[in-house]
This record gives sequence, structure tokens and C-alpha cells, in this order.
Amino acid sequence: MSHISKIILKSLFSKPSTAMYPIKKREYYPNTRGAIENDIKSCIFCGICVKKCPTKGLEVLRDQKQWSIDRCRCISCGACVTACPKKCLTMENTYSAPSTEKKVDRYIQPEDKVQ
Ligand code: SF4
Ligand code: SF4
Repeated sequence: MSHISKIILKSLFSKPSTAMYPIKKREYYPNTRGAIENDIKSCIFCGICVKKCPTKGLEVLRDQKQWSIDRCRCISCGACVTACPKKCLTMENTYSAPSTEKKVDRYIQPEDKVQ
């Protein structure tokens, strides 16, 4: 029996190496680097996170009190979380939801902000 035939036979009778996502979801590790969230009430729109982001995935519109993130650009490096002086950015333990189109999430500070 050839080497290739052996591999084929072995594959036929062994469990698949891949998971049936999204039917079977994988557990996240405790240190999984996931989606960035902003506790927008504490944001002072200083723009430091924008300057630190290596992929230009963040935008701050200070006059509109708006902070936004382009989920397709974010590589979950965590530079923005580390740099934020108000510690209002966090990295969640889950990935950003899959999307077939460009996805920008906008956070707008409410009038009754707490800083
Ligand atoms: S660094 Fe923090 S406080 Fe400054 S704009 Fe970014 S999220 Fe807001
Ligand atoms: S985690 Fe990194 S890539 Fe994502 S928004 Fe923050 S600085 Fe940019």
C-alpha cells in the first residue's frame, strides 16, 4: 500500500481535525484577545488611542463626542487599551462578530456623561 493510500485510509477512520463552526462553538481562552469596547461615558476624546492604533482603525470626533472603531481593521493588538488615560477601553474575551461588509461601530457619549 502506498504512503498516500495509508493517509487516505487513516483520514477516513479518524475524527476530523476541524470543528463544525458555527454549530459547535469553541471555548475562548482566558487570555483571548477579542473585541475592543469603550465605556463611552468615561471617554474624554483625547485621541491618544487613535494615534496609537497601528492599523488606523479608530476615529474620534471630539465636537460630536463620538468614538468609532472599524472592526475589519482592528487586529486586537491592545495598544489603544494600554494607552488610554481614562482606562475606558477594554478588550473583551470574545471576537468581533463575523461580517461580510465593512463594519464600523460608533459610540456617542450621552448628555449626562460621567467623567
Ligand atoms: S484614549 Fe481613551 S479617553 Fe482618549 S479618546 Fe481614546 S478611548 Fe477616549
Ligand atoms: S486593538 Fe490595536 S488595532 Fe485594534 S483598535 Fe486598538 S490599537 Fe487599533
